[in-house]
Amino acid sequence: MPRDPRYDVLFEPVQLGPVTARNRFFQVPHCNGMGHRDPTAHAVMRGVKAEGGWAVVCTEEVEMHPTSDVGGYVEGRIWDDADIPAHARLVEQVHAHGSLAGIELVHNGMAEGNFYGRIPPLGPSHLPVTTNEPVQARAMSREDIADLRRRHRQAVQRSLRAGYDVVYVYAAHGLTTLQHFLSRRYNLRDDEYGGPLENRARLLREVLEDTLEECEGRAAVACRLVVDELLGDEGLERAEIEQLFALVGELPDVWDVMVGFWPDDSRTSRFAHEAWTEEHFRGIKELTSKPVVGIGWLTSPDTMVRLIRDGVIDLIGAARPSIADPFLPVKVEEGRLEDIRECIGCNVCVTGDWTCTPIRCTQNPSMGEEWRRGWHPERFRPAGSDSKVLVVGGGPAGLEAAMALGKRGYEVTLAEATRELGGRVLREARLPGLAAWIRVVDYRRGQLAKLPNVEIALESEVSADEVRGYGFDHVAVATGSRWRADGVGRWHTHPLPCDPAVEALTPDDLMAGRRPAGERILVFDDDHYYMGGVLAELLAAEGKRVTLVTPAPHVSEWSVNTMEHEKIHRRLVEVGVELVTLHAVAAVESGVAHLVHAYTGHASELAFDGLVLVTARLPNDSLALELGATAIGDAYAPGTIATAVWDGRRYAEELDGEPHGDGVPFRREVVELAPLEIEVPA
Ligand code: ADP
Ligand code: SF4
Repeated sequence: MPRDPRYDVLFEPVQLGPVTARNRFFQVPHCNGMGHRDPTAHAVMRGVKAEGGWAVVCTEEVEMHPTSDVGGYVEGRIWDDADIPAHARLVEQVHAHGSLAGIELVHNGMAEGNFYGRIPPLGPSHLPVTTNEPVQARAMSREDIADLRRRHRQAVQRSLRAGYDVVYVYAAHGLTTLQHFLSRRYNLRDDEYGGPLENRARLLREVLEDTLEECEGRAAVACRLVVDELLGDEGLERAEIEQLFALVGELPDVWDVMVGFWPDDSRTSRFAHEAWTEEHFRGIKELTSKPVVGIGWLTSPDTMVRLIRDGVIDLIGAARPSIADPFLPVKVEEGRLEDIRECIGCNVCVTGDWTCTPIRCTQNPSMGEEWRRGWHPERFRPAGSDSKVLVVGGGPAGLEAAMALGKRGYEVTLAEATRELGGRVLREARLPGLAAWIRVVDYRRGQLAKLPNVEIALESEVSADEVRGYGFDHVAVATGSRWRADGVGRWHTHPLPCDPAVEALTPDDLMAGRRPAGERILVFDDDHYYMGGVLAELLAAEGKRVTLVTPAPHVSEWSVNTMEHEKIHRRLVEVGVELVTLHAVAAVESGVAHLVHAYTGHASELAFDGLVLVTARLPNDSLALELGATAIGDAYAPGTIATAVWDGRRYAEELDGEPHGDGVPFRREVVELAPLEIEVPA
């Protein structure tokens, strides 16, 4: 189908100084947990984005010099010439599909403790680093400033040698020295680099001018800028931003704007709506004649068109929408909007960065596996045989397995016990703030409907005998998992001592519509991801007096990795949930729970009427065990939705393949050993 003319505007080329973006789709820099450790995997992932139609494809932040490293986090590096080949490979992958490659050079300064290089960090002022590491940044001398400028120039030269078309000057996310100098909060200097904005902007202006000079029209210079630090009077706000644009607004070839710190920028769908940034970006374009890129969890082509037509931005900035669907631009171009795999805004992708592991995505299981396992977001290897496959269970694992098997060309039957496809996602998407998660089901249901070789049987709970009678060549059992009601989890590896008269409800019970008795509800969260907090919010919104007890120091502790924990804490306080951290429920009697402090062992009591246990799950694996069939997703090992989708894909990819045996089941790059050359003084 040809593209709908109303989207034509998205495919207009945009001049970025000396280079031209072939359309308005701009993959802004984003972390990926692969960086300098997995350079080929990283390069191929970016190449797939270019293949999918993003006119500009950028790296993540790339450390320009060892005076500013990000410790164990796996970002990019361009410290010296040895780093150039990895970048050249990335550029090659992006160029192969006619896109421009961009590099985001960073000097993290006081945002990081420099734990790798051990060199004391640098900042505008003598202040502790912004993490809680026991490290202080040293106020930069004029010599330090000259060093930074020279090293930035050298990094630009290396970027050009690697072939980049767009080079960033980075002053955003609270992560860079250039922003720290701009910010009233961090810049306490009284020399020509401190005080009035004109002085605080001096370093940014100098680095922009240096970068333009080095690029000499061979590459565009982009500036990524925070246009509101969200710190009120203490930080950069619109009035100063207007002054700043009056000073440097015409210097870069393209502006890439954002708001706040990284957790503000990558807000999850639980806490933000599409285009939430619009109010902050309005009016920026009037401050400069240069094109402006902006993000805002933009997944809908109609919203994109509106933002362009309304003059809010010129280029559609995207990290997560390009991760969930690297082929989003191509699908709009080809008039295949229904094929777009819309980002659900869960930030599982962000956890790759925080856990220093290759990026994964709930919606796009091929993310991070493009080179490692040879998975592609759109293309599938043909079937290895004419086998007929039964997939039992239509949750995320079963849906993905059936879809991927169908796309490979197998004849597939998907049997689902209930009337509706979706499994846990159907239930969880009804919880407060998680509505967008239903996109996991919507996308797959839509794709399955297009596959004539996949038959879907709803209201078909199958037994082992029935399955045996059907005569399928392969059976994948994706029957999910169930929450435990006995309190077994991390704290209690044996059942929680509980008076049998007390009814303990589980997340499954609540999602099925049941509610705990009485007004005072105790939610014990020993799961530590979103479920405990979401259920506390649900019950509080229904008027219950909720106390959330967790052995962890934070509520929804693991959501530190999705950058949501502060927002979850705030929301729970706002809806009146009482938070009791660092405590476990040790035993339960009727009406009273015995708590124990996680560190001191101090005992206390909490009176309650109704109890909800959010601890661990058990796989529904009886069918798989009876059949000796392969269990996938939560039926194999309960995990996240992302894990279930990925496992469904893995099953489909590996069917009829060579077994991995004892080998490493994916490609990896092993560090090349350097000459030993140690000379220890005698
Ligand atoms: P996962 O996250 O691993 O995909 P879910 O719990 O989301 O698992 O989904 C499991 C699905 O399997 C549910 O939709 C459930 O109704 C279905 N199911 C469970 N047992 C059977 C069965 N015996 N026959 C058919 N469908 C089943
Ligand atoms: Fe979107 Fe979640 Fe995928 Fe990240 S992991 S791109 S937030 S769907």
